[in-house]
Amino acid sequence: MIQPSELVLASHNAGKLKELQAMLGTAVRVRSIGEFSDVEPHESGLTFIENAILKARHAARVSGLPALADDSGLAVDFLGGAPGIYSARYADGQGDAANNTKLLEVLQDVPDAERGAQFVCCLALLRHAEDPLPIICEGLWYGQILHAARGEYGFGYDPLFWVEERQCSSAELPAAEKNRISHRARAMALLKQRLGI
Ligand code: IMP
Repeated sequence: MIQPSELVLASHNAGKLKELQAMLGTAVRVRSIGEFSDVEPHESGLTFIENAILKARHAARVSGLPALADDSGLAVDFLGGAPGIYSARYADGQGDAANNTKLLEVLQDVPDAERGAQFVCCLALLRHAEDPLPIICEGLWYGQILHAARGEYGFGYDPLFWVEERQCSSAELPAAEKNRISHRARAMALLKQRLGI
């Protein structure tokens, strides 16, 4: 794939845009979908990949630029990958604390050996809205679901995610450290490789 000089990020999150721009350096100018549209596409897919593609396709369509989208979440082995694409609204939109409470309840009697999980980040880059050959990069970060919350950093399910290689929860990792080893970091590293950056 030829490296685009400009692309649109299918996210209104200013933090994500900054992180991506920093990672890609000056070779690629990253623009926000907010410059082109306020409409959020319906995430009708059943997988991270499908939803990342849907979001990137929408962004490419409204901007006329190559577009990158990410879709992420937590997939718990014992739950067949749930909450998965529904991670943000696992407890019916009541927020992170309620999501964590629900997950702890659902896994209450599940022994340690069966509490494996992975954070997932799927990136999709489309050169244009009809691109039949998107670049897909998937970053997985393996861990275990704890029996109680630990740590104050991060967001979402971080307090419940045990990181074996650091012997702490991901909410006990300072942001810079988490950003070096997380699912997002892994997916981004793959994307850079694919773009030759
Ligand atoms: P988004 O795709 O970044 O909006 O993330 C979807 C949901 O997945 C978030 O609302 C969190 O519940 C969960 N999630 C994704 N990445 C992380 C992470 O790094 N830590 C904790 N939770 C995460």
